[in-house]
Amino acid sequence: LLPILVHTFLYRARTPTSLPSFLLVGPSGSGKTSLLTVFENGSPAPTHLSQTPSTVQVQLPPSTKADSQKYRSEHDPTAKQRPKFLIIDTPGHGKLRNHAFEQLRKPQPHLKGIIFVVDSASLSSDTPGRSAAGLTEAAQYLHDILLLLQKRYTGAKSSKGPPELPVLIAANKLDLFTALPAQLVKSALEAEITRIRTTRAKGLLDSAVKDETLEEEREWLGDGGEGKFEFGQMEEVNVPIKVVGGNVIGADGSDISGWWEWIGEQL
Ligand code: GDP
Repeated sequence: LLPILVHTFLYRARTPTSLPSFLLVGPSGSGKTSLLTVFENGSPAPTHLSQTPSTVQVQLPPSTKADSQKYRSEHDPTAKQRPKFLIIDTPGHGKLRNHAFEQLRKPQPHLKGIIFVVDSASLSSDTPGRSAAGLTEAAQYLHDILLLLQKRYTGAKSSKGPPELPVLIAANKLDLFTALPAQLVKSALEAEITRIRTTRAKGLLDSAVKDETLEEEREWLGDGGEGKFEFGQMEEVNVPIKVVGGNVIGADGSDISGWWEWIGEQL
C-alpha cells in the first residue's frame, strides 16, 4: 500500500489538478512542441514527435498581467504574484487526435481555454481554386474541435449552458516571408471551414435519406450551417475566438507576446 500512496502523493505533487489549464492543439508540424518549451523555459529546445499528451506547469511572465490582477493596487502583495497554470499538449498527428477530443469530452472545471496552433506559412496554395493541403488539414481539425464545443453547449442540461470556453488561434511562424498575416489566416480558415461544412452537410443529408436514425446527428457548425461561416458565430455557443499572430522560432528570436496577453486575459 505504501508505494501506492507515495506514488499517488508524488503524482499529485507534480500535477496540481486545481490550477487553471489550457489545452494545446493543432496539426502536427504547426509548432506546439516548440511553443511548449518556450512557455516552460523561455527558449525553444529540439522537439520530438509527441505520442501522448504531456502537461507542463507554466508561470505568467512579469510583463503580462492576469485579468484578475489588473485592478489590484501596487501595494497589494498578491498583485506581484505571477499566476501559474498548466498547458496540456496533445499529439497533432491525425490518428492520435482522439487524445484532444477525449480531453474536451470530459468535464473540465479548470479548463480556461484552447490554444490552436497553426503554421501560417502552410496555408496558401500555388494552384488557383485549390486549397493548400495545410489549410485543409488545419481547417478540418479546427472544424471538428469547434463542432465538439458547440455540441457541449447544445447538449448541456442546464438552461444556462456550459461556461465560456475561449479559443486562441495562434497564427505561428510569422517570421517566414511565406506566412499569411493573422487577419488572412482568419479569413482563409473561415472560408475553408465554410467549404468543409457544406460538404459534410451534403454527406449527412444523403445518409439521412437512407437511415432515419442519423437524423439526430444532423448538427453542423454555426448559425444553422447556411452561408458563410465566421468565427464570430461561435459566440452564440459561448466560444469566443481570437486569431493572434506570433512566432516561436525566428532570426530575431521568438515573439509570443500576443499569446501571453491572451492567456493573461483568461486568468
Ligand atoms: P508540432 O508537431 O506541432 O509539435 O511542431 P514542432 O514544435 O515539432 O515544430 C515543427 C517544426 O516547425 C520544427 O522544425 C520547428 O523548429 C519549426 N517551427 C516551430 N515554430 C516555428 C516558428 O515560429 N518559425 C519557424 N520558422 N519555424 C518554426
